[in-house]
Amino acid sequence: MINTIQDVKKKFDVEDVRKDFPILQRAVNGSELVYLDNAATTQKPQAVIDALTHYYTYDNANIHRGLYFLSEFATEQYENARLKVKEFINAISASEIIFVRGTTEAINLVATSLWREKYFNEGDEVIISNMEHHANIVPWQIAGGRKKINLKVIPITDDGELDLNAYESLINEKTKLVSIVHISNSLGTINPIKKIVDIAHSKKIPVLIDGAQAIPHFKVDVQELDADFYAFSGHKIFGPTGIGVLYGKTELLEMMPPYQGGGDMIRTVTFEKTTFDDLPRKFEAGTPNIAGAIGLGAAIDYLNQFDRNDLCNYENELLNYATARLLEIDGLKIIGNAKEKASVISFVIDGIHPYDIGTIIDTDGIAIRTGHHCTQPIMNRYNLPATARASLSFYNTKSEIDKLIVGLQKVKKMFA
Ligand code: PMP
Repeated sequence: MINTIQDVKKKFDVEDVRKDFPILQRAVNGSELVYLDNAATTQKPQAVIDALTHYYTYDNANIHRGLYFLSEFATEQYENARLKVKEFINAISASEIIFVRGTTEAINLVATSLWREKYFNEGDEVIISNMEHHANIVPWQIAGGRKKINLKVIPITDDGELDLNAYESLINEKTKLVSIVHISNSLGTINPIKKIVDIAHSKKIPVLIDGAQAIPHFKVDVQELDADFYAFSGHKIFGPTGIGVLYGKTELLEMMPPYQGGGDMIRTVTFEKTTFDDLPRKFEAGTPNIAGAIGLGAAIDYLNQFDRNDLCNYENELLNYATARLLEIDGLKIIGNAKEKASVISFVIDGIHPYDIGTIIDTDGIAIRTGHHCTQPIMNRYNLPATARASLSFYNTKSEIDKLIVGLQKVKKMFA
């Protein structure tokens, strides 16, 4: 068989990959940076940084408005980025890709627009889970103003897995939407998302998937999942901040009214009445994050050089290594032990506050997250104020994990 250029994938080699990320070469507090907070945001390869610099240096103009070369060229690059996203998640059409600021804005868009469409009545129910990020809780609470959408919450087991029997029993005639996280940012659990979608669809209920943590870890195919909505953030897949994606099925997006009004989303405006543009522009009021979209396109190109399975397998190897090494530490407990897990590890150490752990290891240049990770309900579920969290990407190494372990041993000694 003859491979096309796109089929020939670059062999994954962690040391080569690290050279693509200039920040990994820097020092923090006199030590080499050990960046283990990838669930919060990922670092950017030089190709993404170059795409942003190139755009602002040579190509900057506003899009969709000018008939001159630069404006048309900027428009072409912005729309080309949309096509890259469409291919990346296997949407049917580029008009199903709405550029937003990130996962948070994507979910707010859906909640606000569906409420305005009167898709929800007061007292209708949205099913979420106990492991949702605040971005998939608060928008539903505020969408209706004083009229309330009720949240029904799928409980989780002690290991951090969804209770699917409980999920099924929550569905009733008031259930209007299931809105669920694909991978938990605080537990690492990979939810059985296809099963969740199938159960909802058997009752004709649409499903929104918060893919913020899933999209960096493995290939997502929205058609295979039959997702009605899929939301993610560019900055978590090695792209810029301030750009993200809402994917929605055409028939749903067509039915939904605009989220924001302004320039670029209209066809005609009078003081009496406005008519709106087609998808996707109906949902992109005002000057969008043009450079951000182009940078996201560059991040997708970067990822597409590799076989995503190679990256995923390597991250799983790191996850297993880190889990085993962390458990060597006396008094350390991992929070979230689902069978299907991504490379996100929350932990606590007896008698030591997570903030102390984070602050002390930072003195050796080791960056982990400490706190509630914008998932306060899951902290309440485990009766914890906070956890420490190491989240690994394909540019991390076993030797960085070893440095984390040395750092944690130092913390233990200080508190002994
Ligand atoms: N959902 C999940 C699961 C997340 O991890 C995050 C980011 N921590 C968000 C939503 C919100 O993403 P953003 O802040 O990029 O909008």
